Amino acid sequence: MISFLNQSTKYYPTIKALRHAIHEEPELGFEEFKTAQKVMTFLDSIQVPYVSSVATTGIIATIKGKYPGKTVLLRADMDALALSEDPNHELISKTLGKMHACGHDGHTAGLCLAAALLNEVKDELHGEVRLMFQPAEETLGGAKPMIQAGVCEGVDMAFGAHLWGSLEENHIQVKVGSMMAAPDAFKIVVKGKGGHGAMPHMCIDPIVIASAIVLNAQSIISRNLNPLDQAVLTFGQINGGSAFNVIPNEVVLIGTIRTFSEEVRSFMPQRLGAIAKGIAQAYGGDVEFVYEPKYPVLINDENTVHHSANSFKKIVGENNVHYLDEPNMGGEDFAFITQVVPSSFIYVGIKKDKDIIHHHPSFEWDDKNMIPLGCGLAQCAYDALTQ
Ligand SMILES: [Zn+2]
Ligand SMILES: [Zn+2]
Repeated sequence: MISFLNQSTKYYPTIKALRHAIHEEPELGFEEFKTAQKVMTFLDSIQVPYVSSVATTGIIATIKGKYPGKTVLLRADMDALALSEDPNHELISKTLGKMHACGHDGHTAGLCLAAALLNEVKDELHGEVRLMFQPAEETLGGAKPMIQAGVCEGVDMAFGAHLWGSLEENHIQVKVGSMMAAPDAFKIVVKGKGGHGAMPHMCIDPIVIASAIVLNAQSIISRNLNPLDQAVLTFGQINGGSAFNVIPNEVVLIGTIRTFSEEVRSFMPQRLGAIAKGIAQAYGGDVEFVYEPKYPVLINDENTVHHSANSFKKIVGENNVHYLDEPNMGGEDFAFITQVVPSSFIYVGIKKDKDIIHHHPSFEWDDKNMIPLGCGLAQCAYDALTQ
């Protein structure tokens, strides 16, 4: 039985340099050409074969074991975000307006570490490890076109990890069942009839209609949804009107619905659409309702979660792996993978004394956290293909 932790020290300087190079040159979703090139250069150096340009910038690498067996998928995301980094950071983005503020640079370099570790032990493996470096996790859902390109075909188990700002360093969290929400978006265009603010009787006021919709929509959760189910309904924008004495023709409401099951996920927009239409028609107006499904609910498979917990315990210790009781309202496109393959998504702690906020200019974390991430993912695959 090898120790991935011991083996990782050999690769650490290279992995750290790789992460720094990716961090300094962040790229947005579906534009990760240079990031992918850095990954390919590393894979070439350890002689792991791969297919590139999958779903634009994605890479699928393969480590074939000596014996036939199962296929295990390990996944990392490569994209950065459109914000500028705190200028006081030591390791800093060299592109103004782009930053690795979610830790995907660490996921990518960490998965490269896992590739190197697994490649060394491939003669022991029954089956194969498929490494997925995907584009565009943030809002664009790059996992989906990679699945359409076949990345999950023949896969028996999938694992993905996220560096996590509210969890202590060297601690791991896993969760059975729903872990992250489906973060869908909606738009309601309220159509009235504009006119002079002094003559409302000659108009159909979309501002009054929109106000009634916003207030009454809250009754969907309190009155229509089973109290044991959960959902969030938030209006994030109201746009309409141009002057104090003009009734506009229309008002646009934009918001998000977040849910933890596919049943609730289909129920919520159905009710919101019906309430909005009913209210608008009662006032003599109408609505156009547009629902934009983003990512599905991230639902982990029970056996795969236990498997990942046991594997990560070998890396961070028995007491540092925790089972979460509650999901969170964030979204993650690893959810697309959980829909087609038994999966476990794993949080890897980066917090030191206080919470580190993702998607914020001040987001930064210690390179050494890539060791539990990379070793843990490697261990998940190793245990699945040797036991
Ligand atoms: Zn993010
Ligand atoms: Zn992320």
